[in-house]
Amino acid sequence: PQTLSTVVNSLSESETLAMTKKARELASQGNKVISLSVGEPDFKTPQHVMDAAKKAIDEGYHSYSPVAGFADLRAAIAEKLVKENNINVTAENIVVSTGAKQSLANVIQAIVDKGQEVIILAPYWVSYSEMVKLAEGKSVILTGTIENDFKVTAAEIAKAITPKTRAIMYSSPCNPSGSVYSEKELREIGELLKQNPQIVAIADEIYEYINFEGKNFSLGSIDEIKDQVVTVNGFSKGFAMTGWRLGYIAAPKYIAAATEKLQGQVTSGTCSITQRAGLAALQGDLSAPLKMKEAYLRRRDLIIDLLKEIPGLKINKPAGAFYIFPDVSAYLGKSVNGQVIKTSSDLSMFILNDAFVSTVGGDSFGSPNNIRISFAASDENIIEAIKRIKECLAKLK
Ligand code: PLP
Repeated sequence: PQTLSTVVNSLSESETLAMTKKARELASQGNKVISLSVGEPDFKTPQHVMDAAKKAIDEGYHSYSPVAGFADLRAAIAEKLVKENNINVTAENIVVSTGAKQSLANVIQAIVDKGQEVIILAPYWVSYSEMVKLAEGKSVILTGTIENDFKVTAAEIAKAITPKTRAIMYSSPCNPSGSVYSEKELREIGELLKQNPQIVAIADEIYEYINFEGKNFSLGSIDEIKDQVVTVNGFSKGFAMTGWRLGYIAAPKYIAAATEKLQGQVTSGTCSITQRAGLAALQGDLSAPLKMKEAYLRRRDLIIDLLKEIPGLKINKPAGAFYIFPDVSAYLGKSVNGQVIKTSSDLSMFILNDAFVSTVGGDSFGSPNNIRISFAASDENIIEAIKRIKECLAKLK
């Protein structure tokens, strides 16, 4: 019999990847699909990073690398965190992985026991709750509203803490809302951690270089709680390196050692060529991420202006990342050709089938009234996509 484990049966397919797959299918049938569903920069990896990878191949970086990453890469990551983020770490606190995704999964697997609770600040990145499921933990989802810029307050978190709470996790800048938690808001969360030394915060800072309002504040920079914070970051978004698969954690040594042990049994060290490329990214200047950020900022303003023209949408102003997360509740419950659009995922699917624009329904991000639209696309595609969305939403009655 074709049986599967209970835990795998309980997993959902990633909604983002599902929409992207469907969009590819429609495109292969000859439709002019504009994909705004995928979480991916539309830029090329910086030239000096590509050159470093080619050099690494020629220099013979062909063997297994140390499980936690090459020593010089770990040292360079620690140096970056000290210099740019004020996080007081050394190479021993760093574990390099096959993307921030693996880093996050490692940490959850390493610290969460069956039945323990993980407080997830929503809207949240789709994989968080599934990773908690894999560890047989329980997600406690706290959802920020568009009125509060999609942020959850320390007071709300305090109410959700129980003796079973093991971790709190969030991304800032946030996927899917683009919201950025301020220093003040994070210091308040830091106070909660101080009062609850059994809780670990997992701070996902993968979009840190795409912050339109200044510098990201890192929870891990608050010295009194540094043994309770795991900072997760990577190269995918800031350096346009999604396919290279390179991420890392900065963690208290006991967590770093545990994730190294786990990774050593599952995947070993990530690709050696990618690691040399990552080192070059860290050692080069930041002009490439900066230029990309400027382009995203321009497109954010463009997409906000275009979306404002669509009746009924409530628009947020993302402070970072490359997503906008409008509230579409005015359209839920409406119908077209006898089909009722019940959920934001239904709406997203209708937009894809009718207008050939892929977005992602907010249900899987913990915000059922919203849809996520990526603006990591050309101005031309953004203009055309929003025009099509406007026309297709007008068909709903
Ligand atoms: N964290 C967030 C919030 C993300 O949006 C993503 C990618 O979409 C990741 C982590 C994973 O990034 P990586 O490509 O480094 O695995």
